[in-house]
Amino acid sequence: MVRRVAVVGAGASGLAAIKCCLDEGLEPTCFERSEDIGGLWRYTDQAEEGRASIYRTVFTNSCKEMMCYSDFPFPDDHPNYMHNTKLQHYLCKYAERFDLLRHVRFKTLVTKIKKRPDFSVTGQWEVVSQRDGKEETAIFDAVMVCSGHHVYPNLPLTDFPGIQKFKGCYFHSREYKEPEEFRGKKVLVIGLGNSGSDIAVELSAVASQVYLSSRSGSWVMSRVWDNGYPWDMLVVTRFRSWLENILPQALSDWLYVRGMNRFFKHENFGLMPLNRTSRKEPVFNDDLPSRIACGMVVIKPNVKEFRETSVLFQDGTVQDDVDVVIFATGYGYSYPFMEDDSIIKSRDNQVTLYKGILPPQLEKPTMAVIGLVLSLGPIIPTADLQSRWAVKVFQGRWMDMRWAKVYFLLMGSSISQQQQADSKQKLGQHLTTLQTDYVTYMDQLASAIGVKPNMLKLLLTDPRLALEIIFGPCTPYQFRLVGPGKWNGARKAILTQWDRTLR
Ligand code: FAD
Repeated sequence: MVRRVAVVGAGASGLAAIKCCLDEGLEPTCFERSEDIGGLWRYTDQAEEGRASIYRTVFTNSCKEMMCYSDFPFPDDHPNYMHNTKLQHYLCKYAERFDLLRHVRFKTLVTKIKKRPDFSVTGQWEVVSQRDGKEETAIFDAVMVCSGHHVYPNLPLTDFPGIQKFKGCYFHSREYKEPEEFRGKKVLVIGLGNSGSDIAVELSAVASQVYLSSRSGSWVMSRVWDNGYPWDMLVVTRFRSWLENILPQALSDWLYVRGMNRFFKHENFGLMPLNRTSRKEPVFNDDLPSRIACGMVVIKPNVKEFRETSVLFQDGTVQDDVDVVIFATGYGYSYPFMEDDSIIKSRDNQVTLYKGILPPQLEKPTMAVIGLVLSLGPIIPTADLQSRWAVKVFQGRWMDMRWAKVYFLLMGSSISQQQQADSKQKLGQHLTTLQTDYVTYMDQLASAIGVKPNMLKLLLTDPRLALEIIFGPCTPYQFRLVGPGKWNGARKAILTQWDRTLR
């Protein structure tokens, strides 16, 4: 029986994990290396080792109705998109409301997680932690890894010939905090993701010139969509997700590209993604097109070579006197505390998890990785539902027993090679790489633990609610209407979500 659960990290995912353990009568112990909760959303002037670091002006890309915990809406007076300080405040309120802090051990670093010798029977883990230089080892029945994935910078310097000769300064966007020190400088930002475009726009107000280099382009979207409503309230709906799944691929791709070009035509701005139909995470930036139109940000292709003071781009153009280069080249996944990190990472350094949560090669499903899946949806409700699903799996109360069977069959050593190969093939269909469709993914998890609303039943018994669920935004409250963890405020929260948005 699983009883004691170790939770690594007290960010948005870790808090969800603690709450779900408590809801199911488990005993969580959360280890947090820093002095407070919040993870990425707790801004500090200096980047801290092992914790995500953001710049002062980070705002959310997901609106408050879509981004909340499923049983804890944001206060009415919060804006739709929030500054990091407001989100951090919300996380603190959540922890306070559900009395989560007493389960967190602050300033405690998890240094090692390894299977117990009898793991194949007990599924237990040994967790080694360090506080004030003192080491402690404890045994847990299950582990929830919530250590974040915007921590370890990806700085691919070998892809940039001549960077050693470059006399200006260069650093990863993780180190960037504020624009002032770049006043009057010529800055090159490499990478057209959310951080790269935010930093380029912010610097363009003070720098003498900003160049933004992109290898493969990106879709750039506005937070403010039709009639001024939040983009995600209109785009992330069950109806759209259903259409996307049933339409022929060519038509669905055409509609997708059309939707993405609604804000402005990407081709005209040199931003068109090379693979225009891939559903890769878009960039949210309301100001980038206007900064480009005003010449304050100049879009450049990939860098071919760095020289002492200049940069040569793939199109043959050269920019002289570049003072600063900021590599907004994203992050890599790392689990330094895993004694055997191949449990989470596969051989080619990719992360492939069952339902985006369970490492597939464990004899017992007693480890869950929370908050790692990427979808066109917010992380907080995703981590919340993943945690609910994971604790059910830990307890063996997993409704999707067909797949559970395949899982255990695959892990069992007594089965034949052929059976293993067959099972692996079946399981393969359910192994989720990190990119996935939000509504489909959430529904899969919700169905497996019996919390997906039954549309047909609702259409007959509560048509007003049913229509809002089908055509309205797929807000997290939908997963608290029925089943284990049902919240009595869910119906009202759904029917008043637009009022709160307008407030
Ligand atoms: P984190 O917030 O990174 O928390 C992990 C915690 O684990 C940290 O507190 C860390 O100290 C702790 N930890 C790590 N290792 C150890 C260890 N060995 N021992 C003990 N403690 C440890 N997502 C959205 O949904 N909407 C947005 O608008 C959005 N905007 C973003 C903007 C930026 C600039 C970035 C970089 C990301 C954004 N994200 C957004 C994604 C973001 O990652 C999630 O919102 C969220 O912060 C993830 O929470 P987490 O708890 O999984 O990880």
